[in-house]
Amino acid sequence: MTTPNTTALSLSQIETLARDTLLANGCNTANADAIARTVMTAERDGSTSHGLFRMPGYIAGLRSGKVSGIAEPAITHLSPASLAVDGQMGYAPYTLEKGLPLLVEAAQKMGIGVMKLTNSFHFAALWPETETLSEAGLVGIACTAFKPTIAPAGSKTALLGTNPLSFSWPRPGKAPLVFDMATARLAKGDVQIAARDGHELPDGTGLGPDGEPTNDPNKVLQGVQLPFGGYKGSAIALMVELLAAGMTGDQFSYEAAENDNNDGAPPKGGELVIALNPAMLGGDDWQAHCDGFFERLEALDGVRLPGARRHQNRQDTGMRNINAELVEKIQGLKG
Ligand code: NDP
Repeated sequence: MTTPNTTALSLSQIETLARDTLLANGCNTANADAIARTVMTAERDGSTSHGLFRMPGYIAGLRSGKVSGIAEPAITHLSPASLAVDGQMGYAPYTLEKGLPLLVEAAQKMGIGVMKLTNSFHFAALWPETETLSEAGLVGIACTAFKPTIAPAGSKTALLGTNPLSFSWPRPGKAPLVFDMATARLAKGDVQIAARDGHELPDGTGLGPDGEPTNDPNKVLQGVQLPFGGYKGSAIALMVELLAAGMTGDQFSYEAAENDNNDGAPPKGGELVIALNPAMLGGDDWQAHCDGFFERLEALDGVRLPGARRHQNRQDTGMRNINAELVEKIQGLKG
C-alpha cells in the first residue's frame, strides 16, 4: 500500500482551480460556476470521489464535444406538480440549479413535486439536490442511472449502472438526515481511487474478468461490480434504472453505453427528483413527531445519522489535502 503525496488547498482555491479549468475548456460562467461549486462542496464534505477527482472527466467531455459547456436548460411545466428540465447536453449542476427552485415551489403548493432531468451528464453526488430540498423544508428523493457496471443478482454480466439513490429528510433548525449511496457495494469512483492508491477492496465489491470474486480493484475494473446486499440491492438498482430512464424517457444504462463515446466523461442520462411537503402531508405536529423518533434513534449505542460525517466535515473550513498528482494534472488541463 502506498501513501500518495498531497497538496494542501483551501476551499476557495479548490473552487477557483475547478472554475478556471472549466472556463479554459469552453464553459460559460454559469456552467463553470455551478460545476465548480459542486466540486468544492464535495471536497468540503469529504465526498472525495466526486470532487476534484472528477475534473479530468468533466474536461474530457468538453474537449470531445460530447458535452456542451454553454448549455442553457429548457424548462417545461407538465402539470402544477411536475416539470421537465432538458439539460441541452450540458453537465447536471447548472440544470439542477435552474430546476430545483421550481420543484420547491411545486411541492410547497401541491404537497408533492416531481422533476425529470433529461439530456444532461451526471458526474456528481446526489446529496446537493436532496439537501437543497430539505433546506426548503421538503423531503427529497433523487436517483440517476449510469452505464452497465453492476451484474444483477444471479448474473455475472453487467447490466445496471452503479445507480445512486439519495434521500433527505428536513429537520428545521438542524442538519437534515441525508443518505446518498451507490446501489453497488462500492461507488465506481471508490474502486478507481483504490486502484490508484493501491488499496484492497472490501469483500463483495466485485468479480474479476474470470467471473471470480476478488479484492483487487484493477481486476474489478476489468470485470463487474456487485450490488450491495445481494438481491435486495439489485432490486433497488433496478428501481433506479426504471425511475431514471423509464420514467424520464432518457437512456437506460445499456443504452447509454451503446451511445457513449467513452471519452472519460459520464454518458448522457436522466435523473428523477421527487419532493414531498411534510408540512402539508405529515400533520401539524410532524416535526415534533419526527423529533421523538430521531431522539430514540440517536440514543442507541453505535448509531450515527447518515449524512452526519459530511456535516461534521463541513464545519472544518480549513485546507484540504488533495492528491498532488491530481492537482498537477488539473493545472495542466488549463492550457
Ligand atoms: P457510502 O457507502 O460512503 O455512504 C452511503 C451513505 O451511508 C451515506 O449517506 C453515508 O453518510 C451513510 N453512512 C456511511 N456509513 C454510515 C454509518 N456507519 N452509519 C450511518 N450512515 C452511514 O456512499 P457510496 O460509496 O455508496 O456513494 C458515494 C457517492 O457516490 C454518493 O454521493 C453517490 O451519489 C455517488 N454516486 C454517483 C453516481 C453518478 O452516476 N452520479 C454513481 C454512483 C455513486 P455520510 O456521507 O455521512 O458518511
